[in-house]
Amino acid sequence: MIVCRTKEELKSNLNQLRANEKSVGFVPTMGYLHEGHGSLLRLAHEANDISVLSIYVNPMQFGPNEDLDRYPRDEERDLKLAEECGTDIVFIPSNEEMYPKKPLTTVVVNGLTSQLCGATRPGHFDGVGLVVSKLFHLVKPDRAYFGMKDAQQVAVIEQIVDDLNFDIEIVPCQIVREPDGLALSSRNVYLNAEQRAGAVVLSQSLHLAEEWIKETGVTAGSLIERVKSHIGIAKEANIEYVELLHYPTLEPIEVNKYVGSITSRIILALAVKFGTTRLIDNSLLNTSGGANNV
Ligand code: AMP
Repeated sequence: MIVCRTKEELKSNLNQLRANEKSVGFVPTMGYLHEGHGSLLRLAHEANDISVLSIYVNPMQFGPNEDLDRYPRDEERDLKLAEECGTDIVFIPSNEEMYPKKPLTTVVVNGLTSQLCGATRPGHFDGVGLVVSKLFHLVKPDRAYFGMKDAQQVAVIEQIVDDLNFDIEIVPCQIVREPDGLALSSRNVYLNAEQRAGAVVLSQSLHLAEEWIKETGVTAGSLIERVKSHIGIAKEANIEYVELLHYPTLEPIEVNKYVGSITSRIILALAVKFGTTRLIDNSLLNTSGGANNV
């Protein structure tokens, strides 16, 4: 496994390895890797000749009062996990390397970023759009792997790839969870024992919602209310949003709409704070397409 810290190193190593039309799979991350990242790295390794991981905590996607300064880091452990996953190249740039001067170009995806995390984290997806575009140009992957835990991010990146003609296949990957259902996240480390125990309500409520939509006459509004009240069971849970939207357009669903009558893909997405720790989760719901309409 080769570790590169500059764009030049990355370029020359990639050029050597890429000779003979070899395919490149890319997994961009902010590090502090866990098995969620591991699953993406393994998929990238299995489906491509060369797999590339980037570890970069991108300041441009953090708001002024967010956790940029305390974002967890452990490069040694990350490199170990990357190696176990068969990763060929790890790109770990510094801020100076990524942004030698203040960028004047923005990558703003309208429409998909005004709701969910985009509403509560203004500018977040502009930062993601810019850094992912820069990384795509540097790595030039054939495929890039993104977790559905950040389903809005997947929708945004698919849009960027379409709009800007990146010749890259975006591969959405399943959410990896702890045995009790909590989605793995680098931020789970911030939770104290009580918060960690309570955080199980996120995945529980998604699971319950999958059952509730099978009942007759469940509207979008009533489903959201039931999910909110289940999350409310956890002592420290502070709901930022619970939303039911079309996916991947992220268009709203009227509160009076019978969920069972919706034939397109829909997403139930949650963001909940435990203390200062913000957790997200979501589920793409399978509706029966009419059976539950009344
Ligand atoms: P991050 O380091 O949090 O920016 O995440 C890097 C990539 O890993 C993103 O595509 C995430 O969606 C993905 N990811 C993070 N957590 C999980 C998880 N629990 N399951 C699957 N993918 C994940």
